[in-house]
Amino acid sequence: MNETKTVKYTCPYCGREFEADIYDAVNAADRELRDRVVSGDLFRVSCPHCKKDFMIQYPLVYIDNEHRFLLWLSTRDAGEMLKSLTKPLTEQGYVLRRCETLAEMAEKIQILEDGVSDVMVELAKYDCFIEFIDNKKGKAEDVTSVEYQKTENEVMKINVRTDDRGMAFLIPLQMLEEEMAQNPERYEVDNETIPVINSAWITSLFMPSEGTA
Ligand SMILES: [Zn+2]
Repeated sequence: MNETKTVKYTCPYCGREFEADIYDAVNAADRELRDRVVSGDLFRVSCPHCKKDFMIQYPLVYIDNEHRFLLWLSTRDAGEMLKSLTKPLTEQGYVLRRCETLAEMAEKIQILEDGVSDVMVELAKYDCFIEFIDNKKGKAEDVTSVEYQKTENEVMKINVRTDDRGMAFLIPLQMLEEEMAQNPERYEVDNETIPVINSAWITSLFMPSEGTA
């Protein structure tokens, strides 16, 4: 079920108030809405006074019953209270994740629709970043993004981008599985807490001074 509510906004351009309908929850079964989440279009609002468009990131629950995942777009932690609600979903095999940005959410949808582990994807992105730097393809500060592209025929494609170019990496899933199998505890996540699994998370795993337990 898709749910909307009406909220008041102040336009950042003309400073006037207006009301807009935003979504609380989106069900992936509505493919048009799903596409609008991925493109970011769902978060675009238009000021009726000055007609300017702008983006607003608001809390959103996104559920995909076919691929069994639930995403929660929020900059705030879920807290302990939610555990009682999320336990049944975990038991049904749902992947639960919190996303801190729209870009994170869009990428997460693509990853989980492809049926691959997002933990594995973050590891792959991390490996590609390190390889990019180690092979002197560019400097760390020049990298603008490391993006998941797709997984096909058991091979994951990751792009490392700088301002002026991009580099594609193709990594066999088997290689990533072996890397994870060497240290399985490191990659364990507590699904019920709706964890954030992103580049900051994977980076924290490799920082010896700041153990994340
Ligand atoms: Zn305006």
